[in-house]
Amino acid sequence: MNKVIPVVKPYLPAEKKYNSYISKIFESQWITNSGPLHDEFEARLAKTLNVRSVILVSNCTLGLQLSYKALNLSGNVITTPFSFAATSSSLAWEGIQPNFSDIDRNDWNIDFREIEKNINDQTSGILGVHVYGNPCNVNEINKLATKHNLKVVYDAAHAFGIKLNGESLLNHGDISILSFHATKALHSIEGGGIIVNDPKVEEKIRSMINFGITEKGGISEIGINAKMNEFQAAMGLCLLDDFKKIIKKRKNIHNLYKDILCDRLFYQKWNKDSSNNYSYFPVLFSSEDDLIASLKELNKKNIFPRRYFHPCLDSLPIYKDALNVGNSKIAEDISSRVLCLPIYPDLDTKDVEKICNILLKSIP
Ligand SMILES: *Cc1c(COP(=O)(O)O)cnc(C)c1O
Repeated sequence: MNKVIPVVKPYLPAEKKYNSYISKIFESQWITNSGPLHDEFEARLAKTLNVRSVILVSNCTLGLQLSYKALNLSGNVITTPFSFAATSSSLAWEGIQPNFSDIDRNDWNIDFREIEKNINDQTSGILGVHVYGNPCNVNEINKLATKHNLKVVYDAAHAFGIKLNGESLLNHGDISILSFHATKALHSIEGGGIIVNDPKVEEKIRSMINFGITEKGGISEIGINAKMNEFQAAMGLCLLDDFKKIIKKRKNIHNLYKDILCDRLFYQKWNKDSSNNYSYFPVLFSSEDDLIASLKELNKKNIFPRRYFHPCLDSLPIYKDALNVGNSKIAEDISSRVLCLPIYPDLDTKDVEKICNILLKSIP
């Protein structure tokens, strides 16, 4: 029986290391509400990422929702259908219509040239996704936002540590939101981080994540509970300690895939001014039939890559009343042919070779 190889596997730090952080929790007896580890994680994240500050939250999805509230988004928001469910659902959950806009054929991010024609008088913002960590065209999106008086939010769930021209990608737009879910490159079991440009908006979000309670103890906003607890922060700190090692291992796997697969498959065009965190290894087949045939062969050997992102979000019946449904032909095409191959720090190089061999044999 072949061992199971999933597409991603959560990184677990040395048990001893995690326990040393947990011992601190038992000493402080502080388990949630801005405890010492929470504050340490926030401070170290801001320093590591080179951003003004990071607001920790219980997950990225709530972080997205809080951001729309804090920026007073309403009506509709331009977004990409080529993303994870949470990108569009977070809008709809807040009563905002997703306004779908197609992606670029090469970098697979929302295409700034498509955005403008979809803007109407109810449009309040642009929600981009740095797909697989590859930066959106932040300068062109910023120009459009200024011209049309729109807010810009980035779903940066994949973009931990990404630098564009040597500076943090997360400083672009009004707000960026990271995900620290177990499957992401840096995780805190569940969790998220909000990076806000305007300190006033930051203050608002900080109260909103704790029922609207302000530093002085009053209630100034309609809030929710989106706090990160000490046990999650402990895991996040462990991952930060190990992050250089994690990236190195991911990079080795990424390079090995590239070396073996070469030009037998197609790849996302990476922004040449950007770093990579090697969170995903997406490959593009010539046709959906080729993808399905290869996937079948891999599954037979207990290897489970993921059709991510598939299907295109605007094809879901739940969005039948959203704007510009069915107009994103490129997103639909890429989504039908893209497959994310297994990549995680302790994936064996032998297994990578095995995956490649099965793939090379199965594609025509
Ligand atoms: C993982 C992911 C999310 C959701 O993150 P959570 O922390 O699980 O809420 C949102 N958007 C994208 C693109 C993701 O990959």
